[in-house]
Amino acid sequence: PSAAAAARPGTAGSAALFERAVAVTPGGVNSPVRAFNAVGGTPRFIRSARGAWLTDVDGNEYVDLICSWGPMLLGHAHPEVQAAVADAVARGTSYGTPTPPEVELAEEIVARAPVERVRFVSSGTEATMSAIRLARGFTGRDVVVKFAGCYHGHVDSLLAAAGSGLATFAVPGTPGVPESSTALTLVLPYNDRAAVEQAFAEHGDRIACLITEAAPGNMGVVPPEPGFNAFLAQTCARHGALFISDEVMTGFRASRLGQWGLDGALEGWRPDLVTFGKVMGGGFPAAAFGGRADVMHHLAPEGPVYQAGTLSGNPVATTAGLATLRLATDEVYATVGAAATTIRTAASAALAEAGVPHLVQSTGTMFSVFLTDPADGPVRDFADASRTDTIAYAAFFHAMLDRGVYLPPSAYEAWFLSSAHDDRAVETVLDALPAAALAAAR
Ligand code: PLP
Repeated sequence: PSAAAAARPGTAGSAALFERAVAVTPGGVNSPVRAFNAVGGTPRFIRSARGAWLTDVDGNEYVDLICSWGPMLLGHAHPEVQAAVADAVARGTSYGTPTPPEVELAEEIVARAPVERVRFVSSGTEATMSAIRLARGFTGRDVVVKFAGCYHGHVDSLLAAAGSGLATFAVPGTPGVPESSTALTLVLPYNDRAAVEQAFAEHGDRIACLITEAAPGNMGVVPPEPGFNAFLAQTCARHGALFISDEVMTGFRASRLGQWGLDGALEGWRPDLVTFGKVMGGGFPAAAFGGRADVMHHLAPEGPVYQAGTLSGNPVATTAGLATLRLATDEVYATVGAAATTIRTAASAALAEAGVPHLVQSTGTMFSVFLTDPADGPVRDFADASRTDTIAYAAFFHAMLDRGVYLPPSAYEAWFLSSAHDDRAVETVLDALPAAALAAAR
């Protein structure tokens, strides 16, 4: 082990907890991305977190570059968010009636995002599932178009792999999803206008909606080519289909106005429906979908499309989300963006120095590192992303972890920062990078 690793307290506590976890939970984790299957080893069990730092059960500290997979834009245990949450908890945690913070959070979202109405749910999965149901109910059509490599949660119809031809219907991407659930899903290559044109030419009058990550972050960060989202919005409009922009990851994260703030707001188009999650829940299970008033009007109890949830709009979760969004000022995004630029520039320099072929791609404050040959051009879609060297990434990941930096344990994820990533946190990452780059070179 390296000197840095030798000086650390070891990981016996995490190992013991993992053994207990595996005995009672499949794979020892409650969401597969938390496991270390892609990088080897066992995940660290985190006892507490503050600012940019995680502390595991053995007392190791890590700079957190996962940030709960996006939500913790302000860092962990932000004092003002904590105070708002403590105050909400003291007044009871769920009533099953309307509450003031739901209204305030909805107003905040409507003020910032291209939506006229919002409905709260408890996860991003519920948001996309409900948005698709609403799109089908509104249009009276059945077909859904999605892109390969875009993840929208574990909705049956969206856990689909591309069929054998371009505009052919999909096959289930996992056992447990019946063929009938994906038989109405078309899966297309991302950033491919011709494929979209062909799908709409062949099936346009049956397409209820096209759903896309506003900027894909679940195959690593693969930004939409300039004008691609506008093209999607226009194509949908021409064919009477709804354009659903999934901003669960990018919303209030890529920029103050999400990915839409980086393209739609400047280009002058709006999605019909938008899904939100992560940052807007302030670290609690809260998510939402929203959009055009005339479309949202079709939802129960105003309209006939059913959708509901016992804990939807939960007062503690919406209070956390409201506090987070109110604190997420332009200054916060500038701070996160500056730290992201410093880290991605340093990662690229360290990898170049070690002779590791790589590409860094970003959108707003989000970025990811592909260990792939830049001579092959940018990563534009899932096929390109699949070229990344996962074995080299595993070595890179563990070298970073040994030096106190917790990266996503998968080569296909965005790296997330927060406004709490101060000089000490950033320097810890910069110090770890050269050795990790050398580990990736072997
Ligand atoms: N949509 C996108 C773009 C996501 O990144 C995710 C989760 O990572 C989801 C939907 C699903 O959200 P959740 O995990 O809250 O169900």
